[in-house]
Amino acid sequence: MIELAEAIGLVERTAVPLPPRRQRLLEAAGLRLAGPIVADVDSPPWDRAMMDGFAVRSADFAGRGDGIVELDVVVDLAAGDVTERKIPPGGCGRIMTGAAIPPGADAVVPIESAVEGTAESHAGGRVRLCEPTFRAGQHVGIRGAAFRAGAAVLPAGVPLTPAAIGLAAEAGATHVVAAARPRVAILSTGSELVPVRDVPAHGRTRNSNEPMLAAAVAACGGEPIPLGIAADRPEAIRSAVMQALAADAVVLSGGVSAGDLDLVPATFAACGVEKVFHKVRLKPGKPVWFGRFDRADGPATLVFGLPGNPASSLVCFELFVRPAVAILAGRPRDAWHLPRRRGVLVAPAKAAADRPVYLPCRIARDGERLDVTPLPWTGSSDLVGLAVADGLVALPAGGRADAGTEVEVLPFGSR
Ligand code: AMP
Ligand code: MG
Repeated sequence: MIELAEAIGLVERTAVPLPPRRQRLLEAAGLRLAGPIVADVDSPPWDRAMMDGFAVRSADFAGRGDGIVELDVVVDLAAGDVTERKIPPGGCGRIMTGAAIPPGADAVVPIESAVEGTAESHAGGRVRLCEPTFRAGQHVGIRGAAFRAGAAVLPAGVPLTPAAIGLAAEAGATHVVAAARPRVAILSTGSELVPVRDVPAHGRTRNSNEPMLAAAVAACGGEPIPLGIAADRPEAIRSAVMQALAADAVVLSGGVSAGDLDLVPATFAACGVEKVFHKVRLKPGKPVWFGRFDRADGPATLVFGLPGNPASSLVCFELFVRPAVAILAGRPRDAWHLPRRRGVLVAPAKAAADRPVYLPCRIARDGERLDVTPLPWTGSSDLVGLAVADGLVALPAGGRADAGTEVEVLPFGSR
């Protein structure tokens, strides 16, 4: 059995960032770009109307002051239309926002500037325009004004926010090279487990860890790969583990403690997974197992065996798996762990003499101070408190946990 800080340090030292991957643009949402995105087109791609109105020749407005300019409408252009027809002096084109400016024209006069009675003019008609503030080139998006083909519109290192995704798409990037989203296989072991859709018969238990751990993986930026249930038989666990080892990380639950059917540590060994630690001085979560599986074709797969009890599983996930996923994803050190803050207990909590305890709690801010209220908790199978908790309160081994005690809290983040 090792100390918690040592175990966390071992995870941090074993995990290394995955090489960036080429991936579909949308699947890279939120990830950091590993290489620049180079535009394959100009933007705007051609001179484009930015208002609904009339495409005109600036020369026809020169020196007109606030007088009315009367023009022949020679063509109608909706968005998507193009014309070869050149706008002659004294002519104009009826144009919609987003349409290409016709040859000869170089400005747009908005529809609102058509003198009453001519606003509905189309090709073949005449329009009278009053535009006292006319500027040459007005309301035209000039080709290449935003970016030019060949330009790096997004540099390496920026996160793919929704706006960056839009820009990348406009620049023609259907795929990008971005930080890898770690693929995390989730495997539940236990002959008593049944799929969540089933009503458990007497003696059976729903596989609630799978959706819980999948959600936890997704919440810290990984891609969960749920692999279902393996019964407590060495061959069953072994073949499921072999399949899971293709992922970047494996989060298995159940079968890691000291019972007769806790076959997981031996099965990991049989599969070639090298143990880094087993058992940590921690409550809940003491039986947690961690190791690595070296692969010829890439980075080692990180392998976690979490205790099957749901609350233990989740506490171990937050303490050990979260940093591993963050490191694999190439995140900066300050984003590896849940934050740790100082708070004050407003009600007594139940510490343990021999191990640090992590309990679900409510956290309320009182000015600079965090007020920490432990939630009722019946033990390591009880998710009721955790499900409404704002975070975990950490109580040191043998520490006192009366009301008023200063404690460390790990907020789960915004909700
Ligand atoms: P174990 O870690 O295998 O000794 O399991 C401890 C407890 O957790 C037992 O009551 C199991 O039924 C329960 N358990 C194990 N795996 C799961 C799971 N995937 N979902 C919900 N409960 C589980
Ligand atoms: Mg079991």
